[in-house]
Amino acid sequence: MSGTHPTTVHAPARTPEPTAWSPGSWRARPAAQQPEWPDPEQLARVENTLALQPPLVLPAEIMELRGALGDVARGRGFLLQAGDCAERFSSCTEDGVRSKLRVILQVAILLTYGAGLPVVKVGRIGGQFGKPRSKPTETVDGVELPAFRGDIVNAPEFTAEARRPDADRLLRAYHHSSAAVNVLRALTHGGFADLDQAHAWNQEFVRRSAAGRRYEKTADEITWALKFMAACGVDVRSQTELHQIQLYTSHEALLPHYEQALTRFDEQRRAWFDTSAHMVWIGDRTRQPDGAHVELLSGIGNPVGLKVGPGTTPADLRELCERLDPQRAPGRLVLIARLGAGKAAELLPPLLRAVRDAGHEPVWACDPMHGNTFVSESGYKTRRLTDITAEVAEFFAVHRQEGTHPGGIHLELTGDDVTECLGGDLAEVLDDQLSSRYETACDPRLNAVQSIELAFRVAEFLRG
Ligand code: PEP
Ligand code: MN
Repeated sequence: MSGTHPTTVHAPARTPEPTAWSPGSWRARPAAQQPEWPDPEQLARVENTLALQPPLVLPAEIMELRGALGDVARGRGFLLQAGDCAERFSSCTEDGVRSKLRVILQVAILLTYGAGLPVVKVGRIGGQFGKPRSKPTETVDGVELPAFRGDIVNAPEFTAEARRPDADRLLRAYHHSSAAVNVLRALTHGGFADLDQAHAWNQEFVRRSAAGRRYEKTADEITWALKFMAACGVDVRSQTELHQIQLYTSHEALLPHYEQALTRFDEQRRAWFDTSAHMVWIGDRTRQPDGAHVELLSGIGNPVGLKVGPGTTPADLRELCERLDPQRAPGRLVLIARLGAGKAAELLPPLLRAVRDAGHEPVWACDPMHGNTFVSESGYKTRRLTDITAEVAEFFAVHRQEGTHPGGIHLELTGDDVTECLGGDLAEVLDDQLSSRYETACDPRLNAVQSIELAFRVAEFLRG
């Protein structure tokens, strides 16, 4: 140390002043919904290891999604964001990815037809492991343990050992994401994603039940559109655009230690990118304007999603948009309204106006899942397909009335034949059937049949 060093005694540190953004600047801010990591040294070791791993996605792909979402924001496309509420490590298999991809493609083709616009496909996949919880602990028979926060944090079994947060799971999450993204890339580029194949699955679905006939007309119209293209000389199997698809990845950026470790500087673009997924979003419980999550995502070049729940005021939203999109870049923000059926019609218009008047050009998407969750008589957390459809209908009606673009939908679905949500005309799920295949690690998802049925309805809304 230099002998000329002043000997002033400094006052104790106070709350730090806001400083310039860096990948670690979130650490000076309160982070909601964090596990109590029991071993800080283990956490630091894992962060260092993660920081040395290759990126899961590349800045060039992220920028491609930014461009596509910019088009959506300007009314030239539609966003489908869909997948599990919480992925499990055990579902990051070829079968697990394939069945989810299949239903996403089936929904996408219907939306493409309905919208008459390109559909940008983003999965809740390849990293959607962490869950915010309404309570930090769970009590069963007088025993209180930490809540299950997703495979990236702890395990679901109700034992003290399983529920103890384990930072090594951050590293396991990275490797499972890597495996899922790898198989996803192979499937989306290897012919599994053929347009006529996805359409054939939908036709089979329409034929399967009497209720399906309701959608026969739409399915037949798509058949004719494909025949028309073929007659014009477009061979759907040889056209790259029709033979391959781009399914981007996304998850909630809930755990800032993990996201920071995968945030990398891109020399070419002179910008930081979170390379854990193409798009990341901020949940309804972690959107404090001065909080850690908003700080971290404010500095990355990825498209950023923001959940907009019924407690969001127009002033809150204006402040958040200013923090996350000061440049007012079209499609930088995806505002995901999850207001609830019967509430969207009243709550959405002032939010749309606040954002528009402040000069932002976000993609507005409708998440009709999270505002419509309730506990059924049989004791299961569930959602009704009628409420889900009603919220989407309200969302479209409000946008038509306000002259804004209804830019997308955000769904929790699975390709498996689960019984987690109630209703459906094609294969109705009743309350006393919820227990038969209730498999979700967190929120109730639409099964494949319910998802396709909803997609046919949304295609109708899109066509007006
Ligand atoms: C979710 O998307 O699974 C979720 C927890 O949503 P929200 O933050 O909107 O409650
Ligand atoms: Mn959920």
